[in-house]
Amino acid sequence: MLINDDVTTVGIDLGGTKLAAAPMKGSVFVESEIIKEATPSGTSEDIIDTMCKMVKKIQETHSIAAVGVSTAGMVNEKGEMIGSCGNIPSWKGTKVKKELEAKLSIPVIVENDANCSAYGEYAIGSGKDFKSMIMVTLGTGIGGGIIINDQIWRGAHFGGGEIGHLKLHSNRTRRCTCGSWDCWEAYASGTGLNNTARTYLADPNINNYSLMDKYNHGDADAIEVISVWHDHVAQGIASLINSFDPEAVVIGGGLAQFINYPNLNKKLKARVVDALKPYINVIEGKLANNSGMVGAACLANVELANLKMQVA
Ligand SMILES: [Zn+2]
Repeated sequence: MLINDDVTTVGIDLGGTKLAAAPMKGSVFVESEIIKEATPSGTSEDIIDTMCKMVKKIQETHSIAAVGVSTAGMVNEKGEMIGSCGNIPSWKGTKVKKELEAKLSIPVIVENDANCSAYGEYAIGSGKDFKSMIMVTLGTGIGGGIIINDQIWRGAHFGGGEIGHLKLHSNRTRRCTCGSWDCWEAYASGTGLNNTARTYLADPNINNYSLMDKYNHGDADAIEVISVWHDHVAQGIASLINSFDPEAVVIGGGLAQFINYPNLNKKLKARVVDALKPYINVIEGKLANNSGMVGAACLANVELANLKMQVA
């Protein structure tokens, strides 16, 4: 890990409803320094302007060497948004790096949010002792970021790490948000867990929090649902371990807190190939919602020497 402790960078996290930004001196992240703004609903230029305003506010008290932006959607090597960008339609096609550099006059790096989350945990979180790790974010869907030998694996076409769409079986039981059938995400995500709960419990209003409440009170059906959900989570993680043999799998997202790690490990042991069973290492992330912002700031720090500005 090559973080330069003398350099201060800013990490920006662009979400569908809010923007968050914070400075990081080297690997030091101070949660109270986060500033937030609502994500503008208008044009991509409005979003760029709001990002600039946030960086300039941080520059009033810090000398900033570079900016890292964590964003939904696929990002190419020039920091341009390719493909669709979730719930920010105006963002598609935006030359984020070029436009920010023109206004800020400092180097900018732009990276997919799942990759940034993985990089954040790798740089200063639960993955900081490892060179190769996989981040699994269990939220409404499933996000993934793959770090191999200290580098983000972006894929040949900037679409790597879409682990939520690993296929669990070919029975055509559940449709996934991607349009295909029986993806991991359709079972192990928050949406998947809720769908499983609805098939086991007679309560049509069950949500994942009321389910966990029943589970914690010893409800037999809820206990079975959570056990089945652990099987679903283990199926995907076992495939990742069998494919990549990482030093660790780090779990983040809102559902990480619902996992019983000894129970998950038992279910993984039954699915991972014999040669890798001794090395199963699944741990909870440390950075919660800040992993993307932290990862973007750390990436800007580590990549600083290689960052060429597109606008002089
Ligand atoms: Zn899918």
